[in-house]
Amino acid sequence: MLRVAVVGSGPSGCYTAQSLVQQDAQVRVDVLDRLPCPYGLVRYGVAPDHEKIKSLQNNLRAILEHERVRFLGGVAVGPSGVSVARLRELYHAVVYCVGAATDRRLGIPGEDLPGSWSATEFVSWYSAHPDFPGQGGTPTDDGFLRGVGSAVVIGVGNVAVDVTRMLARGVPELSPTDVPHAALTALGVSRVTDIAMVGRRGPSQARFTTKELRELGILPDTGIAVDRAELAQDPAYADPSGLPAPQRRNVEVLRGWAETPAPSARRRIRLRFFLRPVELLARDGRVGAVRFERTVPDGHGGVTGTGAYEDIEAQLVLRSVGYRGVALEGLPFDASGGTVPHLAGRVLREGAVAPGEYVAGWIKRGPTGVIGTNRPCAKETVASLLADTAALVRRDVPGDPLVALRTEGIEPVEWAGWRAIERAEAELGASLGRNVVKLPDWASLLDAARRTGA
Ligand code: NAP
Repeated sequence: MLRVAVVGSGPSGCYTAQSLVQQDAQVRVDVLDRLPCPYGLVRYGVAPDHEKIKSLQNNLRAILEHERVRFLGGVAVGPSGVSVARLRELYHAVVYCVGAATDRRLGIPGEDLPGSWSATEFVSWYSAHPDFPGQGGTPTDDGFLRGVGSAVVIGVGNVAVDVTRMLARGVPELSPTDVPHAALTALGVSRVTDIAMVGRRGPSQARFTTKELRELGILPDTGIAVDRAELAQDPAYADPSGLPAPQRRNVEVLRGWAETPAPSARRRIRLRFFLRPVELLARDGRVGAVRFERTVPDGHGGVTGTGAYEDIEAQLVLRSVGYRGVALEGLPFDASGGTVPHLAGRVLREGAVAPGEYVAGWIKRGPTGVIGTNRPCAKETVASLLADTAALVRRDVPGDPLVALRTEGIEPVEWAGWRAIERAEAELGASLGRNVVKLPDWASLLDAARRTGA
């Protein structure tokens, strides 16, 4: 029997587990996660108002409930938990599906001023990620939004669209979702009326997808504003027919908005282009504006600076310029791409295949693509792993790795513990007159996980 550990229970980890049990009737898979909760970015990254995408959790649940798959939550892999070397001893093979855990930096002055946050911090807050320091605060905790009238979102990817949309959402739309109660309350009393989402290149290079872009145009009590002259600097604006379909559709939506000015509304989202951030400016000890340099297309899809500048006022800045993989002690790491070097999913150590070690998902290919992109990615890795089976099973491993982990003082949150967390979240929601509401901090998650007999 082949024993495999999958590290990470997000989409790439779950799809890896699924692919393994579907293709090999003998394999047993433990899916380890640092958190006591499964599903990775589906639980802690997909915006709460994207309920259809969130419902993918049901598909991932079925995978983790497979009879030969076991969820082991609350197990950190690395120096603070089970080392990479120890994991390798406990299993015939280990597949790292640890994603891209941090955000890219802008590297400009003022980036760390109070009021300037990475989009991942804002996402963690409204997703109730237990590592976000504000979690468990008072229900009126509004550290992001207090005193904020204008916000700037830097970047024009789907995360930028998510955080822009969430800034414009009110209680009626968010209350039915699982957004934590503190974030719901803070967003409910938010006075943000002006949100600028800013790209350094043109509309035909924007990274958001059209479905997500369109949603910005149908938010209640929110108008959308674009500047036709600014958009028209993009050579493809006048005639987008030569663009690949995803970019063409984006440009068409933006053209539509330019032609039909939005009726006046309480909030306004401005989509700006050809502005690259150069500095965050302070006012009264916190961010007050973002200075951008105007850019022009360079004819090769990039831009060049013009030496002209524009300041956009903002008491809140969300830097949404992409995720970045983090090195895991004991695993090789390519710092330039934030990924683990690999050959079709087989980890490479100094250029040579490391037997029994594999990667899938963002730590393998970088932080791009939608959730479904992880399926073929996982399949490729699993094909490599299963092709190696004969060599892998030659090595003896302990009968049940869970027994060894427990002997070493590690007490994972198993599936029953996770189900207990789900029950506690349903109870919390009921007590607040809402549906399921997420528990926002480690203490309440672990406390709920212990109530497995309930
Ligand atoms: P992304 O798609 O890579 O977008 C990053 C944005 O930041 C780009 O507009 C990029 O501009 C900009 N940027 C990078 N460095 C910059 C700098 N120094 N100054 C100014 N702008 C800079 O990343 P993401 O939005 O974090 O999304 C990550 C992945 O998750 C994507 O594949 C996305 O589609 C996916 N996702 C999907 C959904 C959904 O399906 N609903 C939701 C969220 C995330 P350049 O292009 O000029 O570099």
